[in-house]
Amino acid sequence: MITNTQLRKNGICYSGQWEPIYFTKQSGHNNENIESRYAFELSEPYLAHLASLGVNQLWTRFFKGYGLAFEDSEQQKLRGLVERCHKHGIRVFAYCTFGTLTLETLLEEEPGAADWVAKPDFFNHASYFGYQCFRARVDYTSEEWRAYLKRVVDKALDLGADGIHFDNAEMSIGFEACRCERCTRLFREYLAERYGTRTAATRRAGMARYGTNRFSHVEPPWFTLGQHPVNQRKVTVPIQQDWVEFRCDSFTGALRGLADHIRSRGRLVEANLGKNENINNPYYRGLDYERVYPLVDLAFHENFDRPGFNRHGSPVCAIRSFKVADAFGLPLMLYATNPLELMESFALNPGACGLAGSPSDKDRQRQFAFIRRWCHYNTKSTSLARVAVLRHQLSLSFDGYYAAQMASDMEQVLQEDHVPFDILAASQLDRLSKYALLVIPGMRWMRDCEGAAISKWVKAGGRLLLVGEVGIRNELNQVRSAVKTIRTLEDFHRSGEMAPLFTSLVKRPFHAPFTVKAGKGRVAFIPALEHAAVPGTELSDWRVERDHLNVPRNADEVRAVLQELLTGEDQLRVEAPNHVVVEFRRREDTGEGVLHLLNLGWEKKEVASARIKLRWPGKAPHVRALRWEADNPEKLTVRQEGTFHVCEVEGIREHVMLIIRVGNGVRHS
Ligand SMILES: [Zn+2]
Repeated sequence: MITNTQLRKNGICYSGQWEPIYFTKQSGHNNENIESRYAFELSEPYLAHLASLGVNQLWTRFFKGYGLAFEDSEQQKLRGLVERCHKHGIRVFAYCTFGTLTLETLLEEEPGAADWVAKPDFFNHASYFGYQCFRARVDYTSEEWRAYLKRVVDKALDLGADGIHFDNAEMSIGFEACRCERCTRLFREYLAERYGTRTAATRRAGMARYGTNRFSHVEPPWFTLGQHPVNQRKVTVPIQQDWVEFRCDSFTGALRGLADHIRSRGRLVEANLGKNENINNPYYRGLDYERVYPLVDLAFHENFDRPGFNRHGSPVCAIRSFKVADAFGLPLMLYATNPLELMESFALNPGACGLAGSPSDKDRQRQFAFIRRWCHYNTKSTSLARVAVLRHQLSLSFDGYYAAQMASDMEQVLQEDHVPFDILAASQLDRLSKYALLVIPGMRWMRDCEGAAISKWVKAGGRLLLVGEVGIRNELNQVRSAVKTIRTLEDFHRSGEMAPLFTSLVKRPFHAPFTVKAGKGRVAFIPALEHAAVPGTELSDWRVERDHLNVPRNADEVRAVLQELLTGEDQLRVEAPNHVVVEFRRREDTGEGVLHLLNLGWEKKEVASARIKLRWPGKAPHVRALRWEADNPEKLTVRQEGTFHVCEVEGIREHVMLIIRVGNGVRHS
């Protein structure tokens, strides 16, 4: 059986069949030809068509929460489908909902199933999106539901599925969150375990964080119409913070149990965990990428940030989603329904080699052929970015708005200025040595150990850019104070003075912008970003969405600091319109450089040009430009300008891939 690493190295070209027929009817997406269409999608001619496009993975309908007996006749079709797909070299993943149950059919088979669904405050059930009032969201703490889903998964694997595709993987929020007796009891146990009287350390933590070690009558946090969950921008109340953490743990535990089981049977796990990175998913959905991405072999994403322009004319794409997934080594599959989206996946995420939707025209077939031919420049490459942005999950969880907006602004500057960057999670600070610069944008809740690891890296030569309020709170939710113990009147007068996490590293206050040396490294500070557009105050308007992805008004201040910190790090300079996105990589097996130029301007059919200046080791490199719409690579003229090799790329439609090689030719694999 194939492993995650092989999966990524081979590249995934995907097609999906989503929903079973009874669900399609009940959700109101019925057609007159639905029976024959569904039958045709299981047929030899259709599978042969997918194989001719290069599709090597298909997910197929299997379980939508109606019941193993109710869904059995459809599920039995899996065995024959697997046999036909394997003949064409296509892996088959069985689609299973990981989030809802339809009790009206399930209860006939499983009388206890009413206990498996979430019990919100004052609704019967938590519905799924789109007013689907026949689907109740599950209660992830139910052991019985987990055991049932294991039976579902085993049935699919016994019928020959190569893996499981979990959909609807998320909890419900606020009023709709489960607050049943079991969840309440588990939450109290969760608090007692961390902050109760169990050990000296938990006693100290409880007293520091709550002023008590007693939690036996705690209720899960509640909301009111005046204090609506959707409007919450900041989570500073510790019981709410721990509820967010508890829910993330509960969800992760449920997914881990099933994922480990599937992997123990030598099969693969995929999950649709993909929501916009800037919506506070830990708070909103119990969904923390840092916890769940390591559990799966590949991820699917609903891509909200489709390539193009937002209302303010800023170029937007799914670079954040791709970078977060790449940080965990995950191929990320998006819908990729048009040529620009298909090339976006190919350019920005290793392993993602296309998602084939319904009918494919000549152009699309040509694109797939291009990807098949050159896929190893995607799948066997690693990022050459010298800049990392820290997306610190705890901070993003407790700041529904601030941290996401700060991170997005900084990433937008890097994207529009063609500075290759990666995104790191807090658990990945051991990778810092790969980077010249770490940007920490507005991450308020940082742990002491993270400060120590980053400071050590800076003193050894790393460069650090702190933007806004970074590390002003510790892991106990305390504001970091300049005076730790108040003994004198002078201490008392200074009692409100903050000493953020990196104060001891820079040995100065964070009042005004600065750049200072620290050991062999440097630290710069920008106190605030002036956001070009911010969410409103209406319900559901609190989150950072497409229209809030802009460079800040003080982008020039950011650019000046970036330029200063990146001195000596200019292996690549790209002069191109701000809607050209770059991705700079190295193919591991051949050592060739790979530079993707993705033109978001193509959404308006604007062709772009770019002037590339690069330093590449060895003598004059050969640079070839590859485009899906051209049959053969084009050799570019490379001139020497000082220490740079310079070339021009004209007529960029959706995408051009440059291959940089010392020596002759380009490998055709
Ligand atoms: Zn519950």
